Amino acid sequence: PFQDEKPPTRAELGRAGWTLLHSIAANYPEVATPEMQTHARQFIASFAALYPCPTCREHFQGYVRTHPPALESREQFVKWCCRAHNAVNLRLGKPTIPCTDLQLLDKRWRDCHCDEQEPQNMIRAARR
Ligand code: FAD
Repeated sequence: PFQDEKPPTRAELGRAGWTLLHSIAANYPEVATPEMQTHARQFIASFAALYPCPTCREHFQGYVRTHPPALESREQFVKWCCRAHNAVNLRLGKPTIPCTDLQLLDKRWRDCHCDEQEPQNMIRAARR
């Protein structure tokens, strides 16, 4: 029940944050209009500015400043997110992922089955 649930830990927040970021990039238009590029740029800037873990926020804002995202295409956005995540992985001593392999990244993040009926989605999640 809701009253027994706790706020997310840094790791839980991280997994949720990366899930949202990679999923957005994986489903971005193949060739983005200037309007979509603005949405993506503003989203990344806001995500970085509002991220609830202070240390993570500081590092991520620094990364965005020194590595401005290329957002003309889905491929560019997906690869930028992968490199940004790798920078954190490296800092935390976690394994990195080959960011040149778009197929591999799509297999992990692209198909969210988001249009399935809600109960089926929940069954899928419970089976994981
Ligand atoms: P996560 O790193 O959360 O990864 C989740 C899944 O993403 C993996 O299982 C894998 O399938 C996939 N994945 C891994 N690497 C990549 C990649 N390069 N490209 C695409 N997919 C990939 N934690 C800290 O302790 N200090 C920090 O400074 C910090 N900064 C963060 C900044 C941001 C913006 C975010 C979103 C999170 C940050 N975190 C930080 C949290 C940290 O990155 C992890 O999310 C957390 O440690 C949990 O790690 P995990 O091993 O469960 O997998």
